[in-house]
Amino acid sequence: MKELNLPVHLLIEKYKKGDFLPSQLIESLIKKIKEKDKHINSFIKVFENQAIERAKILDKKIKNKEKTGSLFGVPVAIKDNILVKDAETTCASKILKGYIATYNATVVEKLLLEDAIIIGKTNMDEFGMGSSNEFSSSGPVHNPLKKGYVPGGSSGGSAAAIAAGFATCALGSDTGGSVRQPAAFCGVVGFKPTYGRVSRYGLVAFASSCDQIGPITINVMDSWTIFRIIAGFDEKDKTTFDVPAPEIPEEEIKFRIGFPEKLLEQGVEEEIKARLDEILREFVKSKNYELKNIEMRSFRYAIPVYHIITGAEASSNLARFDGIRYGLRLEGKYLEEVYKKTRGYGFGEEVLRRIIMGGFALRSGYYEEYYIKAQKARSMILEEFMDNFEKVDFIITPTSPFPAFKIGEKVEDPIKLYLSDIFTVSANLSGIPAISIPCGKTGEGLPIGMQIMAKPLDEGRLFKLSLQLEDFIKQRYGN
Ligand code: GLN
Repeated sequence: MKELNLPVHLLIEKYKKGDFLPSQLIESLIKKIKEKDKHINSFIKVFENQAIERAKILDKKIKNKEKTGSLFGVPVAIKDNILVKDAETTCASKILKGYIATYNATVVEKLLLEDAIIIGKTNMDEFGMGSSNEFSSSGPVHNPLKKGYVPGGSSGGSAAAIAAGFATCALGSDTGGSVRQPAAFCGVVGFKPTYGRVSRYGLVAFASSCDQIGPITINVMDSWTIFRIIAGFDEKDKTTFDVPAPEIPEEEIKFRIGFPEKLLEQGVEEEIKARLDEILREFVKSKNYELKNIEMRSFRYAIPVYHIITGAEASSNLARFDGIRYGLRLEGKYLEEVYKKTRGYGFGEEVLRRIIMGGFALRSGYYEEYYIKAQKARSMILEEFMDNFEKVDFIITPTSPFPAFKIGEKVEDPIKLYLSDIFTVSANLSGIPAISIPCGKTGEGLPIGMQIMAKPLDEGRLFKLSLQLEDFIKQRYGN
């Protein structure tokens, strides 16, 4: 079945025309996943029977001409840190082995209400900590576009599943770039909404002040569709905004785009820099927009600030995995031994590193030195963004300074790996929305991602520009 890789509206159109039924699509998808995911490892669990059963219920809706939802029969993959009722949620960690979710995350509930079909749970870096999907108790994910390369992380399974055509849309979580960076490495679209736009209820917390759930899709329009469905106030997450859903403005707007040229001088691969430069200059010319060179001085503090804050939050959030309440328990002679054994064995190396780092930053005596300082620097980053947003409507950077790298290349050197996130973490620290869209490929055939950031809650205009850019890039560079 060649219809497996259609965007949402075309897929639904085919169903409506009677070209095929949801159950037929799902059956072919499952077959494809069984054949090909052995080499990619994007899924931790495929919901074979449940997905087919649900598709058959949807078949009937078509036959009976019942009202259908806006994601009717659309196969969706869910990152394994987002709860799907009655399914195991492992966060790719040994410590959650056997933990079965007792309820649906709000985002999952919303997708189901629109008649989506959940096809399975995707692989990830353990608890969302990583940039290459090599830190997973379910094994590394392979980039479907290039053998032997990482798909990015931590939502590497979700991005790989979309790039491989195993699902139409996927959900990931983005604490410091985990939706955008893997989307960039796999040549698909990844979007992190404004903090508070989308409910985190049912998302296993990594760093609560930065975490947001976002869609990974084959194009910008699908990203918008999913975003509109999952966004909105939720009683169960008091950090969600009670504001009207955003709309893409119809009128012509003469956008002003900020490009922090100086920032790109350090550490960005030549090919990526040149590509972005060329596209932006030609794009603004064709539209008669304004391109402004801006400064983002605070970006150089972003990585250390991000790791102190998210480490501190993670050390507290992950304290709940104690061998008593969830998943794994290793027996001990007394309670403390249960904790020690379970946590020592259950958490992987990177998670332990973050817990130790975070605990250290919060220790009395060090707290002012690290945590408080990091919070002050965090405010500086936000202020610099807001100052810039007085002058420009958007800020554009590469999503990552380099494209996908070889499996094993950076895993031994955490600092090198942390640098993949140099352009993405600031959006999380500031709560602003940011999207990564594909921007052609390098000479080696590795996808390049462009990141576009906007003011808080300015998603409507962000998507307007992203659709225009996507169109321009496709015309010029193909897919
Ligand atoms: N790669 C970053 C980290 O390791 C971001 C992770 C994320 O966004 N979940 O912390």
